[in-house]
Amino acid sequence: MRRRKEEFKCSFCGRSKEETLILIAGLEGHICEGCVEQAQQIIDEELYQQDKRFMFSLPKMLKPIKIKEFLDQYVIGQEEAKKVLSVAVYNHYKRLNQQNSEDDVEIEKSNIIMVGHTGTGKTLLARTIARFLNVPFTIVDATVFTEAGYVGEDVESILSRLLQVCNYDVSAAEKGIIYIDEIDKVARKSDNPSITRDVSGEGVQQSLLKLLEGSEVYVPPQGGRKHPEQKMVKINTKNILFICGGAFSGLEQIIARRIGQNVIGLKSQKLLGGSQEQDKNLRYVSPQDIRKFGLIPELIGRLPALTYLEPLDKKALSAILTQPKNALVKQYKKLFAMENIELEFTDEALEFIVKQAVEFKLGARGLRSICEAIMTDAMFELPSKTNVSKFVVDINYVEEKLSNEKAKTLRVAS
Ligand code: ADP
Repeated sequence: MRRRKEEFKCSFCGRSKEETLILIAGLEGHICEGCVEQAQQIIDEELYQQDKRFMFSLPKMLKPIKIKEFLDQYVIGQEEAKKVLSVAVYNHYKRLNQQNSEDDVEIEKSNIIMVGHTGTGKTLLARTIARFLNVPFTIVDATVFTEAGYVGEDVESILSRLLQVCNYDVSAAEKGIIYIDEIDKVARKSDNPSITRDVSGEGVQQSLLKLLEGSEVYVPPQGGRKHPEQKMVKINTKNILFICGGAFSGLEQIIARRIGQNVIGLKSQKLLGGSQEQDKNLRYVSPQDIRKFGLIPELIGRLPALTYLEPLDKKALSAILTQPKNALVKQYKKLFAMENIELEFTDEALEFIVKQAVEFKLGARGLRSICEAIMTDAMFELPSKTNVSKFVVDINYVEEKLSNEKAKTLRVAS
């Protein structure tokens, strides 16, 4: 016989149905909202004692191929760099997991260095991988650093930033990823070790070395020297993955010269050929070229995964406009959809945008500024119009917008 409604009560706290907001039925009993909440707290305390925002083990099924597939959703082309990055990250996590093992074989950290022109996706790759791994991530620019004691930031401030990103959770920061941009800017100015001190170049490389190697560093959590009273926090950088990137302008010639000397015949002529061919030489980059460029051997040794990014051609730029998960065209469409306006770009218009971007020589970065120049007027006016349900960006519209004075400054600026 079915029990009367008022007899239902929470099997955990005993409150009757009337005393609860909701009573969930199970096979043998019931549970109220208060007890569900408490149970959740117990689960959290028992299973996720550390910061729940960050997880530090890759799910078992995530092999390098899967990591690359994730990168493919956001980054166009750059197959080699994606592969190197996927493997390096995969091994990094294997390394984290084997730290308690008994044998003497220690897997070394696989910090990464990427060379490639500006706007080809170096930062995007690093950012995407961090998103994938769900670990604290920060980007720093190597140009702001000077050797300790000089005007400018100490390299340790990198760690302060990482700490800030993860809300001062030291154990989370110790497993984060740091992207150091413009590493080429701290190259030694000449190939000879300098006699005088090179505060902004080699000195910085030496200081970076300490972090990359893995050491215990005392860090001012607020960063900078403005708060001398703050308590220092100790961070071990052993498990922090460093990814360095730089345009290394002029590296192609160094590579061409090296290959030219070693390879005779047709191939070497091709490699040494016009600037387009030279652009492609980056794929032959080796640690010795980076050294010649001015990074110190010790630092290069700490960046064992060396990879390159291809210059973006028309096809790649065109794909970047439309294909990635958060492609520019998709973003504009979404913005317009929020105003209940359907936005369409004609193929001709897209082609024209790409052509302009190639001329600007800013890689994919040019696409953004060009699109903004084209779309600003429409984004300004259309939200106030009630009778527009569709807006088509065609070649005439693009040409008109790019011919105005402001758009011309884009070209000058680039
Ligand atoms: P870099 O660090 O090489 O100078 P970024 O990664 O900052 O260049 O690229 C700038 C922007 O251009 C990115 O935010 C992204 O929108 C776009 N972009 C660059 N390269 C690619 C690529 N290969 N695939 C997709 N988008 C890209």
